[in-house]
Amino acid sequence: MTVDEAYQKIEQQREKKDKRVVDLNRNIIFDHKEQGIECIQSISGCEHDIAEQIYELYHNKIEEIRNKKAEEKAQKQQYIPKCPTCGSPDIKKITGGKRWITTGIFGLGSSNLGKTMECNNCGYKW
Ligand SMILES: [Zn+2]
Repeated sequence: MTVDEAYQKIEQQREKKDKRVVDLNRNIIFDHKEQGIECIQSISGCEHDIAEQIYELYHNKIEEIRNKKAEEKAQKQQYIPKCPTCGSPDIKKITGGKRWITTGIFGLGSSNLGKTMECNNCGYKW
């Protein structure tokens, strides 16, 4: 049996929702190599050598997906708003109601007037 044949067999079983393919996925995700190879052998009936190659194939695929997700996450994080003074992302929006109350109590000199954001870290408002 070749790598291709064994691979096809696993993919066929995946479509049939074979429980062993679910076990295989879990072993690949948690990098339990020996158990993963056992699953591959059990599903396709291939040799250990072939199963090992298939395991590496799946494992690399998952690594690729993981790296892609980590990259996407890193890109997204660039857009998280931060405090302009200390750079902390721990900021909150000053609500209209709160602004109005502060203005009422302290008059026009309120530090909240015209500011929409407040930093929970250093207290800066902008
Ligand atoms: Zn700050």
